[in-house]
Amino acid sequence: MKQETINIRVESEFCKIPTNGEIQIQSWEATERKKRALKAACVCFGLAGASAFLPIAHFVLVPGFLLAIPFVFSFISKQQNKLLGGSYLCPCCGTKMELHSQPADFPIQDTCSTCRKSVSIQMVA
Ligand SMILES: [Zn+2]
Repeated sequence: MKQETINIRVESEFCKIPTNGEIQIQSWEATERKKRALKAACVCFGLAGASAFLPIAHFVLVPGFLLAIPFVFSFISKQQNKLLGGSYLCPCCGTKMELHSQPADFPIQDTCSTCRKSVSIQMVA
């Protein structure tokens, strides 16, 4: 598990001068991804077992959690990195914006909460 701070460039089609910012990204090696996926699959299996004791709801919950196992395993084992958070200045109005936790799929699209202009966030190489 590796956590690093990366510089970003923020552009908007409405404003010509790009701004900069910083984001924190967490990334996992292949073996760590497998471990995380296995742990999440075990949690699903445990929830399926625990929900077997709930009257009536167990008809839906037990098969639901068991069917979710391959999807959860696949999703988490493919997740190489994740954006933990960050901040930047809006290129149009200069408001400081916060990025919250989300998949790190660049370019990230965001909307300024002050001027309502859409911005595109790129990693700086
Ligand atoms: Zn703005």
